Amino acid sequence: MTTLESNPSTLLNSDPALIPIAEKVQRGKRLTLDDGWTLYSTNDIWTVLDLAKQVRDRMHPGVAYYNINRHLNYSNVCALSCKFCEFYRKKGQDGEYTRDLEYIREEGRKAVESGATEMHIVGGLNPYLPFEYYTDMLKALTEVAPSVHLKAFTAVELVHLARIAKVYKKDDPKSGVRWVLERLKEAGLGSLPGGGAEVFDERVHKEAFKTKIGAHEWLDVHLVAHEVGLNSNCTMLYGHVDKRRERLRHMEILRRSQDQALERLGYEGDPDAYIADGIEESEQITAPVITLNKDGVTLPTPAMSERGGYYQTITPLPFFPDGSELEHLSGPGGVENLRTIAVTRLMLDNFPHVKAFWIMQTLPMAQVMLEAGADDIDGTVVWYDITKAVGEGTHQETTERDLIEAINEAGYEAVERDTLYRRVQRDGSNWRVEG
Ligand code: SF4
Repeated sequence: MTTLESNPSTLLNSDPALIPIAEKVQRGKRLTLDDGWTLYSTNDIWTVLDLAKQVRDRMHPGVAYYNINRHLNYSNVCALSCKFCEFYRKKGQDGEYTRDLEYIREEGRKAVESGATEMHIVGGLNPYLPFEYYTDMLKALTEVAPSVHLKAFTAVELVHLARIAKVYKKDDPKSGVRWVLERLKEAGLGSLPGGGAEVFDERVHKEAFKTKIGAHEWLDVHLVAHEVGLNSNCTMLYGHVDKRRERLRHMEILRRSQDQALERLGYEGDPDAYIADGIEESEQITAPVITLNKDGVTLPTPAMSERGGYYQTITPLPFFPDGSELEHLSGPGGVENLRTIAVTRLMLDNFPHVKAFWIMQTLPMAQVMLEAGADDIDGTVVWYDITKAVGEGTHQETTERDLIEAINEAGYEAVERDTLYRRVQRDGSNWRVEG
């Protein structure tokens, strides 16, 4: 592998502050928050992208992933009013909807017909629906689409479900969430998406989404999900009222949470562990530092989920101001999005996958991001009612051919994956997973 030190022509154009970071990256060492700050603030963005590409290529040599999926937003009625959200409606407001079971079954049938391997299901915190609506929804989908993986409900929805099921206890929130997750898993829940994390920071929380759950509760939900054997994912919605240092702190908290999950799976810690400054004692996690970005490290597999789940993917999501209460902000630009993908790959050394979600990045930009740390561009989607980069409508379908061409043009083999990142063998709408 070419290093900054061994390649004088690279050195000539590089910011010297990146050299010690490059050395750590090449040895698979955990980067500090100060390293993250250097990556975010250097003018030498090409070296930052190149370092992220080195890690991405080491973890996923020669390949990039996509899937055939379908999104279902079951209701946009929400009890909260987060400032950055353009999705929610209040009961009786123009455009509000709640899908009934027949609609949901039909979506399940369409998912099967189109050969989808996954349904991605999220909605608002609808105070008018009983807990049974959610178990009935999963059971109905399991009935009509038994082979389709149901990735459903963000952490904030799951806390809401615990509340409407009247099992939520303020002094022990985890027990209510466990009750909910066990029942949803029984009804067909396969894994958790990663939405609702936003940026873990008290200031940002107060300013942009103060009635929504904060970092502790979000992390607790994912911890419990991992304990009951469900894999999960996470996001970072950035470019609104957050600052870059707050994003780095968000990344630190997530990778410590993943350290905890990986320890349960039997991964060994790094003896030269780095513990971040600036993280409250109550937020410190006592697990050893575990990285997955060294040569020869085996990434976690679904078979390990018997011991517990883990975070599969981090998806940085750029904020889109249009239609939200923060419309006066401009949102992040292309270079910031590219840099954020790269910094995320470099800082989140124990996350198997980094996703460039084409719906929010655009497909051409997601393709470029494959060269900057991302290894996944998500799937065919079909209907998407939350925030997207292009177009007003909810029809956001792309074809499998477009995804494959985008990946191939970037120089990678396009690998169709299922939700758990197993390779899919496909013959039209018939498919099976390898292994
Ligand atoms: S972000 Fe989620 S919780 Fe907040 S208003 Fe929108 S739908 Fe509701």
